[in-house]
Amino acid sequence: MSHVFPRHCHSALPTAVSGDGCYLIDADGKRYFDGSGGAAVSCLGHSNARVVQAIKDQVDKLAFAHTGFFTTDPAEELADMLIAAAPGDLDRVYFVSGGSEAVEAAIKLARQFHIENGEPQRSHLIARRQSYHGNTLGALAVGGNAWRREQFAPLLIDVSHISPCYEYAERTADETLHEYGQRAAQELEDEILRLGPDQVMAFLAEPVVGATLGAVPAVDGYFTRIREICDRYGVLLILDEVMCGMGRTGHLFACDADGIAPDILCIAKGLGAGYQPIGAMLCTTKIYDAIASGTGFFQHGHTYLGHPVAAAAGRAVLQEMHDHALVARVRDVGAQFETALRDRFAQHPHVGDIRGRGLFWGIEFVADRETRAPFDPQNGYAGKLKKAAFNEGLICYPMPGTRDGRHGDHVLMAPPFIMTELQIDEVTSKLARAIHAVIPT
Ligand code: PLP
Repeated sequence: MSHVFPRHCHSALPTAVSGDGCYLIDADGKRYFDGSGGAAVSCLGHSNARVVQAIKDQVDKLAFAHTGFFTTDPAEELADMLIAAAPGDLDRVYFVSGGSEAVEAAIKLARQFHIENGEPQRSHLIARRQSYHGNTLGALAVGGNAWRREQFAPLLIDVSHISPCYEYAERTADETLHEYGQRAAQELEDEILRLGPDQVMAFLAEPVVGATLGAVPAVDGYFTRIREICDRYGVLLILDEVMCGMGRTGHLFACDADGIAPDILCIAKGLGAGYQPIGAMLCTTKIYDAIASGTGFFQHGHTYLGHPVAAAAGRAVLQEMHDHALVARVRDVGAQFETALRDRFAQHPHVGDIRGRGLFWGIEFVADRETRAPFDPQNGYAGKLKKAAFNEGLICYPMPGTRDGRHGDHVLMAPPFIMTELQIDEVTSKLARAIHAVIPT
């Protein structure tokens, strides 16, 4: 009888006992290829010697020092490394323990910035439908996934949700990609004007939408227009790169591919690569200076902010990425992975779309390729696919509700950056067998 409160009360889970490169191994010795890095976490696989050693060394030296009293070398050095590579004017790093905490901090910082900046009336947030920003109440409120929000709706702050930039499902036949992107972005300006041009504090978006849409990047020009609109109305742009950041898309910061920089940026997952729980919120000099020259402190905080062991792990992850040119590798292996996915699945009668960047790919399943109509949710294909792939020894991340929180099915793939060419074949073969077992053709 287990005393652990699991995610699902009625599924018996195998016990994971060890990790070996891209594989997790259970107590029976079964090996699972981690094709989604859990949820886009394990970018270096499960047995990176350097990161493990860095953690041990740090615990030997110093396990914990509260940030109300001390700073530490690992936190200082990790912040320097992040800022050296960060886009635009990002200049300060606020370390937390995960993605939801990074988003909560971003929301509160946006609010405090406007107060310090003499615009206390700015209190409204705008985000997008079909986004996921975390499960704490603030992050859940900005998230736009109807199913995840439903039962907690009475507890959530009021946030506007505009359309995502989701070309496959939402571009009309008579629109070019560019026209579609501009139309989708225009919704932001329309909503800002509806709420009042000086009422909105921030707009939040994932540059490549992960869990809820299945690796959907925006079309060219969309984020350029979003940036212009935010600048025009003094609205802060918060980019949530918790899933798509830290090299996953072939850029250390995902927004580099879109040619824009945010005012606040959230990262987590790949930053600690699963070796330690760590996230961070980065902000610009302008925002930091407004706080520093005003109240002098950000009215926020958690006990484990800037945890030295987590920071030491993050520092080792970035060193490893740098020394082995892993972000460039993501682009190269990612291109091979894309080809393999298209070769294997593009002609499948129920594959509607294959999209993504780097080593971050989504396959969307449809009942009808012509009309792009999703399957009846009663089929429960996403859940069945997860089980079938797991039986094959493949961890992947299928989700239902791609279109509106209820309809639509996709599978998200986010394999470790160290995946080899041979393993690409293993992953696509296992995935093909799982899809064949679940979705009748
Ligand atoms: N933001 C995005 C884009 C995410 O994908 C996630 C988690 O999947 C989060 C925030 C929340 O991160 P965490 O689960 O570490 O709290």
